Amino acid sequence: MRPKTCVVTGSSNGIGRGIAERFGEEGCNVVVNYRSSKEAAEEAVETVEASGGSAIAVQADVTDIEQVEQMREAAHEAFGQVDVLVNNAGINQDVLFKEMSHEEWDVVLDVHLDGAFHCTQVFYDDLVDAEQGRLINISSIVGKGGNFGQANYATAKAGIFGFTRTLALELAREGTTANCVAPGFISTRMVEELPEKVKERIRNDTPLGRLGTVKEVAEVVAFLASDRSSFITGEIIDINGGKDL
Ligand code: NAD
Repeated sequence: MRPKTCVVTGSSNGIGRGIAERFGEEGCNVVVNYRSSKEAAEEAVETVEASGGSAIAVQADVTDIEQVEQMREAAHEAFGQVDVLVNNAGINQDVLFKEMSHEEWDVVLDVHLDGAFHCTQVFYDDLVDAEQGRLINISSIVGKGGNFGQANYATAKAGIFGFTRTLALELAREGTTANCVAPGFISTRMVEELPEKVKERIRNDTPLGRLGTVKEVAEVVAFLASDRSSFITGEIIDINGGKDL
C-alpha cells in the first residue's frame, strides 16, 4: 500500500515536530514545514527518516498563500498527492486585553486563522482526492475556557473549532474527515517559558497533576490521521489531563 503523505505546518519544533516524528514511525511521507528554523527542520527530517518514514523540509510562512502554494508544489514533486494536512503552526503574543495593540491582535489571528485558511484552501483538492483524506487542526483548551492575557490566542483557537466543524460538513461527502485536538498545557517552548509560579498553578489545577507531553498529543493526531478513525469527524478531542473538569 502507498504510504500516506502528511503535511505538518510549523513542525521543526514542539508539538508539530512530535507529530511529524510520530508519522515517521508509521512509515509515512512527511512534509516538515518551517518558517525560519531550517536547521531544526532538517534535524526533524533526519529523525523521521531514521524511524522508517521519508521526509522533506519545506520553508513556507503560512500567512503567505503564495509560499503555501510553493510548499504544495514541493510536496507533489517529492511524494505526489497529499493525504493528511495538520494545521499546527502557531504563535502567542500574550498581553492583557486593555494593553493589547491591534498589531498584537492581528499577528496571532493571521498565523492561526489565515494560516489554516491558506493551507486548507491550497491542499483542499488533495484531501478530497485522497482515499481517506484527513484534515486535523491543532486548537487549544484556551479556545474553550479563555485565559488571562490571551484574548487574541483564545479567539483564534475558538475560531478553529468553528472552522473544523464546518469543514467536516463540507468534506464529508468526499469521504474526508476534519477533526481538531484541544491540548491543555503541554511541555514545549510555549509553556516552558512561563514563570515557574504559573506552571506550578497549572500542575495544581490539572487532575493528572502535570503538564502533558508532545508524544501524548502526537499519539492522538496519529490516530485521527489513520484509517482507524474513519467514522469520526467534526470532533474536538481534549488532551488536557482533565484540566477542564
Ligand atoms: P512551538 O512554538 O514550539 O511551535 C510552533 C511552531 O509554529 C514553531 O515551529 C513556529 O516556527 C511555527 N510557526 C509560527 N508561525 C508560523 C508561520 N507563520 N508559518 C509557519 N510556521 C510558523 O509551540 P507548540 O507548543 O509546539 O505549539 C504548536 C501548536 O500547538 C500551536 O498551534 C499551539 O497554539 C498549539 N498548542 C500548544 C499548547 C502547549 O501547551 N504547548 C497547548 C495547546 C495548543
